[in-house]
Amino acid sequence: MMAVETRDVVVIGTGFGGSIPGYYLAAGGASVVMLERGPRLGTEEFTHDLQIGTYTRIVDLIRNDGVEVAAGNCVGGSSVVYFAASLRAPSFVFERSGTLGRRIWPATISRRTLDHWYERVERILPVSEQPWEQIPYAGGVWAAACSRAGHTCNPVPVAVDLGRCTNCNFMLNGCRFGAKRSMLLNYIPAAEACGAEIRPLHEVESIGPASTPGYRYAVNYLQLDPDDYRVSTGGGTIEAKLVILAAGAMGTPVILQRSAPLLGPMPAAVGRHFSPNGDRVSMALLDETKVHDLLGLERAPGVAYDAYFVGRPITTITYDYLDATLPEFERFSLEQIYFPPIVNIVPEDGIDGPPVWFGVDKRTLTSRWRSWLSVLHMTEDNNEGVFGPPPPTGNFVRISVAAGVGQITYQVSPETQRGFDLSDAATRAIVEQDGLGRHLLWLGDRNTLSAHPLSSCRMGDDPATSALDDRNELRGHPGIFVTDASAVPTSLCVNPSLTVAALAERASALLLRRAGDYGVTVAPGSARWW
Ligand SMILES: Cc1cc2nc3c(=O)[nH]c(=O)nc-3n(C[C@H](O)[C@H](O)[C@H](O)COP(=O)(O)OP(=O)(O)OC[C@H]3O[C@@H](n4cnc5c(N)ncnc54)[C@H](O)[C@@H]3O)c2cc1C
Repeated sequence: MMAVETRDVVVIGTGFGGSIPGYYLAAGGASVVMLERGPRLGTEEFTHDLQIGTYTRIVDLIRNDGVEVAAGNCVGGSSVVYFAASLRAPSFVFERSGTLGRRIWPATISRRTLDHWYERVERILPVSEQPWEQIPYAGGVWAAACSRAGHTCNPVPVAVDLGRCTNCNFMLNGCRFGAKRSMLLNYIPAAEACGAEIRPLHEVESIGPASTPGYRYAVNYLQLDPDDYRVSTGGGTIEAKLVILAAGAMGTPVILQRSAPLLGPMPAAVGRHFSPNGDRVSMALLDETKVHDLLGLERAPGVAYDAYFVGRPITTITYDYLDATLPEFERFSLEQIYFPPIVNIVPEDGIDGPPVWFGVDKRTLTSRWRSWLSVLHMTEDNNEGVFGPPPPTGNFVRISVAAGVGQITYQVSPETQRGFDLSDAATRAIVEQDGLGRHLLWLGDRNTLSAHPLSSCRMGDDPATSALDDRNELRGHPGIFVTDASAVPTSLCVNPSLTVAALAERASALLLRRAGDYGVTVAPGSARWW
């Protein structure tokens, strides 16, 4: 029998939610091991091709009943594959009550109290403002169309080193220029410099009670085959005084559900109230002559990757509909976004009539691809998603290297639909003005598509509707802290990573102050940046 290892802290997952507390606890002198189900790739290993088995090694597309979710699967988590749009959530988000009838967020968290942590993350990543001269064509078209329709539109702040960025537009594959400021460039190396150990291809299955005196929890994992994540090559257990659970909003509730027979009942909100961040995609098919005549813009001749937008994938956004005085479910942002070819079925679904995927029709569609503008609406949704029972292993049933079937049931409520409809109408008014283009509704697959899963183990003050207290501790299970996107209580109306990171910074600071209560000694003020 394998000897059980012990550590002060086991961190599960190495995205924003895992790397940040992992760093602070290691910097304080705690012994920290970070278990990550995905592989570890260095900057030079990220590829510029779209073959199965290259970029697909580090991102999963998980199909559920009513929602399809993309999520990172590697050391650094979704920060490695994300598009790096880094925005603070508007103040009204923290005051939301949804259909609950009372404030959903904990009373101690507001935009004002979170600003300190936002500012810290922006400095550490760091986040840059994109100057207008670096905004690529698609972002410029969206900004000019908004302006012509009487709206403001701004460059999106990004966690990208703009001096290093080559605009290659392979961000989904991980940045091989080291320009995207993923966790691989900041918190993770800092954590390792302080002694944290990272173990890739270690998938945590469950948490049970520890058997070693002085330790609280036993974290059970399987080791995964690097060529086929469905195959396990071994397994083990590490006992810890503290567990930081940060397997992402798609993973954290599943691990907890599976742990209930070992640890006792979980809070009712585990695996409920899931939100895809109110994400909705729509398209505009532009008339390039009108773009020239009305907006005064045209593509440079001989543009590389002609069929796709060149440049960073997210560049401009209109904040005009984030009006705090509007009723809830009527506020949203509209952001230009480039979709990589992996999701090229999306624009096809936007064409009136039945989707056509093969043959001449497809050729005709892709010949117009250069004139497609895609817009991401981020609305106020109603936390409708519910997880079903967990699969025997893993976070979902993996059917291939990058694809799986999950347990979520997601049915759009009338409130969420109201936000979708209003944001569709706003986008249509902008892109159809004077025949600039044609707004395409997403008519195909009824699934909501999201890269922003949230809220499946959320914080709050009411034990009936939240799984975590306002310090991110799992109710009824002292010493388990959930610090990832699953803790975020509601959709945010903007891209969520900066909020996930700010909340993880806040949770880390609160935890460091009382780590001694759990038998973990940390030196105060030991975190430093170089
Ligand atoms: C393609 C894409 C583009 C995006 N673009 C943006 C953007 O531009 N701006 C923005 O703000 N947000 C963006 N996001 C969302 C953002 O990346 C996430 O909100 C954020 O990374 C969530 O952080 P997290 O720590 O909760 O989860 P993740 O960063 O997903 O980290 C979870 C980690 O846990 C690991 N894990 C899961 N299960 C287990 C297990 N059982 N055992 C061990 N490890 C496990 C995962 O492999 C992963 O590494 C994007 C996401 C994607 C997928």
